[in-house]
Amino acid sequence: MAISATRENDLLATVPTELFIAGQWRAATDGRVFDIDDPSTGKVLLSIADAGPADGRAALEAAVQVQESWATVPPRERGEILRRAFELVTARADDFALLMTLEMGKPLEEARGEVTYGAEFLRWFSEEAVRISGRYSVAPDGKSRLLVTKKPVGPCLLITPWNFPLAMATRKIAPAIAAGCTMVLKPANLTPLTSMLFAAVLEEAGLPAGVLNVIPTSTAGEVTGPLIKDGRLRKLSFTGSTPVGRQLLKDAAETVLRTSMELGGNAPFIVFEDADLDAAVEGAMAAKLRNMGEACTAANRFIVHESVADEFAAKFAQKMSARVIGRGTEEASTIGPLIDKKSRDKVHELVTGALAQGATALTGGDIVEGPGYFYHPTILSGVRPESEILQQEIFGPVAPVTPFATEDEAVRLANNTEYGLAAYVFTRDVNRSIRIGERLECGMLGLNTGVISNAAAPFGGVKQSGLGREGGTEGIGEYQSIQYMGIADPYAT
Ligand code: NAP
Repeated sequence: MAISATRENDLLATVPTELFIAGQWRAATDGRVFDIDDPSTGKVLLSIADAGPADGRAALEAAVQVQESWATVPPRERGEILRRAFELVTARADDFALLMTLEMGKPLEEARGEVTYGAEFLRWFSEEAVRISGRYSVAPDGKSRLLVTKKPVGPCLLITPWNFPLAMATRKIAPAIAAGCTMVLKPANLTPLTSMLFAAVLEEAGLPAGVLNVIPTSTAGEVTGPLIKDGRLRKLSFTGSTPVGRQLLKDAAETVLRTSMELGGNAPFIVFEDADLDAAVEGAMAAKLRNMGEACTAANRFIVHESVADEFAAKFAQKMSARVIGRGTEEASTIGPLIDKKSRDKVHELVTGALAQGATALTGGDIVEGPGYFYHPTILSGVRPESEILQQEIFGPVAPVTPFATEDEAVRLANNTEYGLAAYVFTRDVNRSIRIGERLECGMLGLNTGVISNAAAPFGGVKQSGLGREGGTEGIGEYQSIQYMGIADPYAT
């Protein structure tokens, strides 16, 4: 059964549409607004305030103003704000899920999964807030004492992508709150509504004014550029594409700004001849179709032993073609639209390029006629190694399958990319699992599983997939600076 239009409208009526600066909801300085569309219909959901450079400055000013007082709030209190936020998001899980489905397109069931995952960062970091420790030691020569402490890094700029509207925000905001940092959040212009609703939840949870400021904008560079150059900003945490990340790193070099970069991926999914093929197909479905393939962790290249490649591809194609394409608000839908026309057309271009070079579509291979930006789940075999589809993030429900003969060849194919975020391996051989794990250039590896995201694990990549880690016990460190104090010999006379 589909969600009713009344339910959708009632929910949209509760979403704040103004900028959130210094604890106030307010219009953009020049009164501009921009539209947020539903990718399954192309229709406007809401118009929201469009921050300009003056609003960006005001947001940073607010964050700078309260940084010192916020840093003195006891860790337990910061943790309890996060815990209340976890409970509030959980209580409103249906609202958050529906809002994400409306603005981003993912099916409701997946959106509910994202609420659970996104909320978990709030709970995890509520627990980490009270575990911030340092160390005290005697210097090697015995003459002095060394005291090492961790302090909040200071005001942070957080820039998030459109594909996981709640989880990408909580994965940054929760550790920043736990560490005692203030923030300016710039959500993606395609899906800012979830961040607005989440900011309202944090306000209700008791987050003091100015600690979090939210500035949706249709002119990202113009608004954030001056903030990155402002010496009062102490940290940039960015999740998005590698090209934009590279540019931001260059900008950040000017003030030697601390950065965390969660960038693109081109994940290999390797299936060995001894793998449980049905489990591998299940894993492939999860690693490929989560978010319609619009995930940085999405399996992009299926590298399958030649003795099982045809059987794997046939089983995979059968599962892919059974998926139900439809607006995410319909309970039966298991494949929603891609985010916009440009993204859908780029996916189709990669597919047609591969087909023109001799690949075969075992299923799919074409656009679903509108309204909305849907694409048929697609399996390609016989993809040429130099094909563009193997070099780029596909960001769509398309799986190219390439056979391999030896373990060395599988490793060489898997590592043949500038990216190094996620990888997946299916095998029953324990020694090979460990060996291949050591040889693959990736920050995260799924062994006999297609699902790796977990708030308790360090999320991040190597090579051009980024710098730093989010989540896990490592995540809070991205928002802390280390200070060392040398203490004179307490026994000296
Ligand atoms: P994107 O185009 O790089 O945008 C990401 C964010 O950066 C958005 O908020 C965007 O704002 C902003 N932005 C774009 N140009 C900017 C500029 N010149 N200055 C400041 N901000 C700028 O990426 P996307 O299309 O939203 O997201 C998809 C990408 O994110 C994929 O590459 C995916 O792999 C990656 N991703 C990585 C992870 C990870 O953890 N490694 C997680 C999720 C997604 P606008 O929306 O206003 O353009």
